[in-house]
Amino acid sequence: MTHHGWDALILGGGPGGSTLAASLARRGRRALVLEREKFPRFHIGESLLPRSREVFVELGVDEELDRRFLRKYGARFLCCTTGRESTYRFEESFDPKFTYAYQVPRAEFDHVLLEQARKLGAEVREQWEATDVLFEGSHAVGVRAKNLLNPSEVTELFAPIVVDATGRDTLLASRTRRKANIARLDKTALFSHYRGTFRPSGQDEGNIQIVIFEHGWFWFIPFRGDVTSVGVVVSSEWIRQKQKGESLDSFYDRTFAQSATARELLGGATRLRPVGALADFSYRIDQLAGDGWLFVGDAGGFLDPLFSTGAHLAIKGATLAAEAIDHALTTGDVSRAAFATYEANVRYAVDLFLGVVQSFYAGQFRETLFEPNQRSTIRKLITSILSGDVFHVERRPPWASFLREHYPAEVPTFV
Ligand SMILES: Cc1cc2nc3c(=O)[nH]c(=O)nc-3n(C[C@H](O)[C@H](O)[C@H](O)COP(=O)(O)OP(=O)(O)OC[C@H]3O[C@@H](n4cnc5c(N)ncnc54)[C@H](O)[C@@H]3O)c2cc1C
Repeated sequence: MTHHGWDALILGGGPGGSTLAASLARRGRRALVLEREKFPRFHIGESLLPRSREVFVELGVDEELDRRFLRKYGARFLCCTTGRESTYRFEESFDPKFTYAYQVPRAEFDHVLLEQARKLGAEVREQWEATDVLFEGSHAVGVRAKNLLNPSEVTELFAPIVVDATGRDTLLASRTRRKANIARLDKTALFSHYRGTFRPSGQDEGNIQIVIFEHGWFWFIPFRGDVTSVGVVVSSEWIRQKQKGESLDSFYDRTFAQSATARELLGGATRLRPVGALADFSYRIDQLAGDGWLFVGDAGGFLDPLFSTGAHLAIKGATLAAEAIDHALTTGDVSRAAFATYEANVRYAVDLFLGVVQSFYAGQFRETLFEPNQRSTIRKLITSILSGDVFHVERRPPWASFLREHYPAEVPTFV
């Protein structure tokens, strides 16, 4: 078996894969990324969280992101049925180290991150598709991959660690692990880009706006310039209202007709791309690591995008994976046990978000969001969560324990 000198093979070059490759390269490890697409390419998931900037600074890419993208200082929630609204600014969080994030067209953002991984020394092969993870017994030892520019070129690559960062494709989990939908999160998203929607002025221009209505919630994510990502997440009951043969564009317009507030924010904006859709999108995988393999980002689970959490979990999770892989390579123990802390830290972060998201759909957290005489600690707590302050690797703050107690995550059991 030839190892070609790579320490890790990373399948997928989205934010999870590219951050991992860059972080490993910074540690002097040789990472190879196989990415099926040619970047830049469209991707959903455009609103980032301030805490990801910790990683951007570490990887030396924060200034470039700031030059390219609109700053997001907070989140504005509007409730259609009650007329209530509330704006949370990240500076109000318990630990306001990072007071803004970015709103990013993902084609450009993902490209910047992947290029940064290259600059830091990772090898990146675009238009290479991983087709199989190779095992010896329980140990992942390599990958079979196809050059999409020359499909007869199929090769086997080997390394001590294989990381699945293939996103919602969940290459390895779909074949070897158990994958379960998460309670109360059987939703569908419809989305597009628009030119000319309403935006607040000044520092609030970059805020994400979330409009809650009877069947779900709309997002308005403004980019630098005049283009805005507009989408809606709806219940499975509402999706059943889509008529046979009705186009997504038409059903999307009918969904807007359900919310006067969303229509107001949309104004006379022009739709720039056909409406896309994704169904049943929250899932959990039974394990995040095994002998010689790890999952990073969506490849290891996905949570409803209400609080724009996916990219942050992938990015910050990738840095924890890099730390665990680096240590495992140093000690020579790449068994599942070597990644137990990684798995525990990622699960902890995901479950902090998950409990709150489930409580939002059940109604309790939604009330808390709009409470008129909110205590300042509750406001700080909500803002901390919205900032992505969920990776408490060194110390778990008391407010997080409060959150876990009051909004416990309901997770699927794998028997
Ligand atoms: C409706 C919706 C709205 C969302 N909104 C937000 C938001 O506002 N903010 C946010 O942070 N997140 C949001 N997300 C989540 C976000 O999109 C993801 O969590 C994030 O992209 C995860 O990054 P990743 O690197 O794990 O996976 P991805 O970004 O999906 O990257 C995976 C990469 O792997 C490649 N790949 C797949 N299979 C293979 C293969 N076999 N071989 C080689 N390469 C492969 C793909 O081409 C892709 O480039 C949203 C998600 C949905 C569904």
